[in-house]
Amino acid sequence: MLVPRLRPYSTSVFGEISQLAVTHGAIDLGQGFPDYEGPRAMHDAARAAIATGVNHYTSAKGQPVLRDAIVAERARHMGEKYDAATEVVVTAGATEALTAALLGLVEPGDEVILIEPYYDSYPAAVALTGATRRTVAMVPDGDGFTLDLDELRRTINPKTRLLVLNSPHNPTGSLLSDHDLRAIAELACDHDLPVISDEVYEHLVFDAIPHTSIASLPGMRDRTIVISGPAKTFNVTGWRIGWALGPEPLINAVFAAKQYLTFVPPSPFQPAIAHALAHEQQWAAANRAALQRKYRTLSTGLRDLGFDVKRSAGGYFVCVDVGTDGTAFCRDLPARAGVAAIPVAALSARGNWNTLVRFAYCKEDATLRDAITRLNAAGHP
Ligand code: GLN
Repeated sequence: MLVPRLRPYSTSVFGEISQLAVTHGAIDLGQGFPDYEGPRAMHDAARAAIATGVNHYTSAKGQPVLRDAIVAERARHMGEKYDAATEVVVTAGATEALTAALLGLVEPGDEVILIEPYYDSYPAAVALTGATRRTVAMVPDGDGFTLDLDELRRTINPKTRLLVLNSPHNPTGSLLSDHDLRAIAELACDHDLPVISDEVYEHLVFDAIPHTSIASLPGMRDRTIVISGPAKTFNVTGWRIGWALGPEPLINAVFAAKQYLTFVPPSPFQPAIAHALAHEQQWAAANRAALQRKYRTLSTGLRDLGFDVKRSAGGYFVCVDVGTDGTAFCRDLPARAGVAAIPVAALSARGNWNTLVRFAYCKEDATLRDAITRLNAAGHP
């Protein structure tokens, strides 16, 4: 029954692996969600909103209090100014912002360029538009990955409608360097292309390296849609709040499509996120430091077990080359070791990453230690 263009996407690898984890009582280092909670006052604000009747449709672009908080935080954090009335739209998760942006800007037959490997919703969203997916690979760079800029140059052609970037990158945890961002910005300007920049891990960059948005580079403010949200910053992946920031014509395109997906974003979480953006930055900074420690704990543990662990510069994930078929490895792992992970092959269509496996470290220290103990006991396959 399913239309052919969606057939490759009938099941999400995250649902599949999480189900395997539940079936086998495994520690889920697959799907990227924290097993510890965000700031308490933010939760209290959501409860108070429900108790005081914030349970109905809100302003279609998002409650003004949240839009104000989003642009204020962006100005503080990145020095970039957006108009809360016309240059921001709140969505049901960052995923909806991305899908709506593509639906609003891309025609069937256009080409959309993604970084590969990619977060799983990207190719599915391109398929929803009827456009064609083109990709540019992450290639090995020391013990990490970097974008193949030459491939990007070769891939842009007259059918290219837009570029989708993601830095910090899911699944590799790589950052696009300032040099790469400048090169991409020049290409976007030369070819007059809009850019969708998914920055949901913007607050989780390690080693005090500042997050750079391509929107801040010359010529990019008026052609970039920045997508972000609170899920990863404040541990609320299930609240489904996200947003898009950009120049009015691009935001109007996102908004036009978004209205017919969920109409408005969830109401009671909006004042709670507004509170968090304004008052919980210390919590977010402490969480970033904790995540960097967790990254070290997991990557050191995996390296001690003999795995070839790749460098991650931020976000929730570390990739490991398991030296064998990663899909089979991840299918077996929950039953064999009581741990779940994501095969990077499920986030790509080329064969380049078949031995790569993604582990999430956004977990309690005890959870990570337990996972290492289990993997150690199971041994290598
Ligand atoms: N963004 C998270 C990840 O990459 C969750 C994905 C999902 O469950 N759809 O793991």
